[in-house]
Amino acid sequence: MAQFALSASAAALPFKAGISRGGKQWSSLVPGSSWRKFGTRFFSVHSQSCQRKGLRFVASGAVGNGGGTAEIAESNKAPNMYAWLDKKKPRVCILGGGFGGLYTALRLESLVWPDDKKPQVLLVDQSERFVFKPMLYELLSGEVEAWEIAPRFSDLIANTGIQFFQDRVKVLSPLDHLGVTGPTGSGSGGTVQLESGLIIEYDWLVLALGAQAKLDIVPGAAEFALPFSTFEDACKVENKLKNLERQNFGKDNLIRVAVVGCGYSGVELAATISERLQEKGKVQAINVETTICPTAPPGNREAAMKVLSSRKVELLLGYFVRCIRRSESLVSPVNELETFILELQPSQRGLQNQILEADIVLWTVGSKPPLPELEPDDRPYELPLNSRGQAETDENLRVKGHPRIFAVGDSSALRDSDGRLLPATAQVAFQQADFAGWNIWAAINDRPLLPFRFQNLGEMMTLGRNDAAITPSFIEGLTLEGPVGHAARKLAYLIRLPTDEHRLKVGVSWLAKSAVDTVASLQSTLTKVLSSS
Ligand SMILES: Cc1cc2nc3c(=O)[nH]c(=O)nc-3n(C[C@H](O)[C@H](O)[C@H](O)COP(=O)(O)OP(=O)(O)OC[C@H]3O[C@@H](n4cnc5c(N)ncnc54)[C@H](O)[C@@H]3O)c2cc1C
Repeated sequence: MAQFALSASAAALPFKAGISRGGKQWSSLVPGSSWRKFGTRFFSVHSQSCQRKGLRFVASGAVGNGGGTAEIAESNKAPNMYAWLDKKKPRVCILGGGFGGLYTALRLESLVWPDDKKPQVLLVDQSERFVFKPMLYELLSGEVEAWEIAPRFSDLIANTGIQFFQDRVKVLSPLDHLGVTGPTGSGSGGTVQLESGLIIEYDWLVLALGAQAKLDIVPGAAEFALPFSTFEDACKVENKLKNLERQNFGKDNLIRVAVVGCGYSGVELAATISERLQEKGKVQAINVETTICPTAPPGNREAAMKVLSSRKVELLLGYFVRCIRRSESLVSPVNELETFILELQPSQRGLQNQILEADIVLWTVGSKPPLPELEPDDRPYELPLNSRGQAETDENLRVKGHPRIFAVGDSSALRDSDGRLLPATAQVAFQQADFAGWNIWAAINDRPLLPFRFQNLGEMMTLGRNDAAITPSFIEGLTLEGPVGHAARKLAYLIRLPTDEHRLKVGVSWLAKSAVDTVASLQSTLTKVLSSS
């Protein structure tokens, strides 16, 4: 839908002197004016330039309203100022449309507002899709389709007042370090500059940029290993596996998969891929600790161990990867695809160095929040970051020292009442979004903010097409495994998908697929029974 909007806007522009940059179309327009597209409407925007703190600002005004995807074809006088539709209503800019950001936007939309205070909400994300990351594995097992777990933002917000802009966040210039806490409209909270040069002035900011894979931990990882964190990563892994399967079709060679890290992500990947490849593959999983999923409830760990051993996944526990390199001599004679060498060093006494060969190396260790640069980057403006690079917040989810900035999810750091850092999980981000939305409402309406309290509902992991482990926190000692755990996990995630409309579409799709699977398995059982009688 975003692509349709793009081509439609290009077709309707007065000049079609567009240049393509990073998949976006930019067109030269009438000097001093630019055209913006919101949903299916166009708005003419007149701009005036002014200078501040070394950045060029362009003040703009726009008319009209309506939610949707903001496709902006700017004049070549970038950077330009984003034109909010209403000059009086509070402006909430949300950076990152994942579990933290998208759900905060939807929460804001669902609250009841006094007419003049209902904020304008702009969601910015580098991707055109929201990604339900806990179900990325299902893309590899073929259980789900891309639209189900990675729907386009333009579809999700179609019936809301939320505006979406696809771009990368680059520079943040907060102005709230002096404690600007008055009601909104009393002054700007700061500005955000995007990679395209667009500048967004906001009253309230939500930092929800998540975390990205950190591959610069060992030599060769960034070059030769594939992370598994985004939709694009999952597509790359899927393509690589398909290529290997095609090349090895009808041959005796095993497809060798090395998974680095045996936290949840590594174990779920190893379980999914070993099930997919079966006897055509060999999966090896490496962990620096001497166990898998060290922080998981014992029930989940034991269920995972059973599944991994039944699928002959080789666990190399107590090792760290010293380096990864491309194999010069060992390129498989039967396929032209490159192969890799992993040098393993023991992290425990009594183990020997190991050398592994693999056709694909999957990296699941380490992550880092992609927080934007600050400008100016000196003291009063800076965001307090912890050693993991996450923005530290108070219990109301406001970044410390920045009353106009809320931070949620993986790019934020908050400790519970026992002083433990909350985990970087979808569960935390999802719950924080609810509080962030409420607290923005409270801040705008001069009401007290609510302190965030995390409610741990338990932990879930997928272990294959019909297998999962769930340990709910509210029933001590219970772990649901196998098909029951699998069905319960899918239901729990269906409920958490964004928007009623999307949930309904996905629910119907999964129901239809499970009906087809049931008929197929009945047919195959019947065939077996009939052929043996
Ligand atoms: C494979 C996998 C499986 C997982 N399984 C589970 C699970 O089973 N249970 C669980 O609780 N958690 C799970 N997690 C963790 C969970 O997905 C994250 O904790 C959660 O997504 C965090 O939400 P968030 O909003 O902070 O970040 P995200 O959901 O990652 O969203 C961040 C958004 O910011 C955007 N973004 C990033 N940088 C920029 C930029 N510079 N400019 C513009 N946009 C940007 C991204 O495109 C993204 O849309 C899993 C994670 C992965 C990778």
